[in-house]
Amino acid sequence: MSKVLVFTEFQNGNLKRSSQELLQFAATTGKPVVALALGSQAKTGAAQLAHHGAQEVLLCADTAYDAYNPELFSVAAAEAIQQAGASLVLASASSSGKDLFPRVAAKIGAGVVSDGTEITVSGDDVKVKKPMYAGKCFATAQFENAATKIVLMRANQLPVAAADTSKTATITEHAFTKPSLKTLIKEVVKGASEKLDLTEANVVVSGGRGLKEAANFSMLNDLASVLGATVGASRAVVDAGWVGHSMQVGQTGKTVAPTLYIAVGISGAIQHLAGMSGSKVIVAINNDPNAPIFQKATYGIVGDAFEIVPKLTEEFKKILAH
Ligand SMILES: Cc1cc2nc3c(=O)[nH]c(=O)nc-3n(C[C@H](O)[C@H](O)[C@H](O)COP(=O)(O)OP(=O)(O)OC[C@H]3O[C@@H](n4cnc5c(N)ncnc54)[C@H](O)[C@@H]3O)c2cc1C
Repeated sequence: MSKVLVFTEFQNGNLKRSSQELLQFAATTGKPVVALALGSQAKTGAAQLAHHGAQEVLLCADTAYDAYNPELFSVAAAEAIQQAGASLVLASASSSGKDLFPRVAAKIGAGVVSDGTEITVSGDDVKVKKPMYAGKCFATAQFENAATKIVLMRANQLPVAAADTSKTATITEHAFTKPSLKTLIKEVVKGASEKLDLTEANVVVSGGRGLKEAANFSMLNDLASVLGATVGASRAVVDAGWVGHSMQVGQTGKTVAPTLYIAVGISGAIQHLAGMSGSKVIVAINNDPNAPIFQKATYGIVGDAFEIVPKLTEEFKKILAH
């Protein structure tokens, strides 16, 4: 039977939630699930792949794969797909996923659909729903004449159940061909405000136009550092150039699913809600009692963010110190 290969990623030794989603979805297709794991974190984390549904693991723990390099990764991924005989490949529509898999598709003559928000697999038939024209409408994409189908899914679109630690997988260590590289990654500089990628964060503190100016994000950074949270933003402030696009939550930004989402000075436009309404607990701080965000919020605080946020930060500091 044709297999599903899942391209997996680790962060701080833990399998990313986006990879957990893909593995668990792959297991529901009824096809054998192969996980590809590259880099030194993959070796210690390999068991986690089995716990989320991988039956086979193709592992290459070479430190050369610790930083993303498209030339190196595209050869490894292409070889792994061919070795596994996978007809369906699932990966995250992260910036590296979107950079990598068109290259892989070109190498092996596969079809590729990116930015999936829904996927259905029935035998060889794969349908992927994806936003078009910056989220103004959705398209359903299907493959034609593609023996190998590559689907890049947005994070936090598929459900994740708890890991089943009784599951095991066959782990095969593998050395993929290393091409002579034309580019080398010398250093990776993380954005100062992004502790953990938004899509993986358990607590998110997001700011909107109600913060008035870019400098006032420091108030959110203070709250976030007390809570161990990642800072996000609405599109209005991204478009204004206050923060980078990697911090945007919403239909045309990232979809988040944290345990706690704190929205500060965000009105709650439908496009913003599309990216955060899967959060477990939503706290909204807004000085307009009629702001639409309050309809989604678990707890609403009507008031001036400039008074409330510093008070919350101080209170959390005291509580969490114990
Ligand atoms: C195709 C398309 C895609 C889009 N994609 C996205 C997306 O991915 N993500 C996204 O966020 N938006 C997206 N948008 C934009 C969206 O429609 C809104 O314009 C945007 O979310 C508004 O951002 P905001 O809430 O920060 O600003 P505003 O709507 O201006 O809201 C600011 C809020 O701050 C409150 N406020 C003001 N002062 C204070 C204060 N002192 N204390 C507390 N509260 C205060 C106000 O009451 C108001 O509710 C998209 C739009 C389109 C058309």
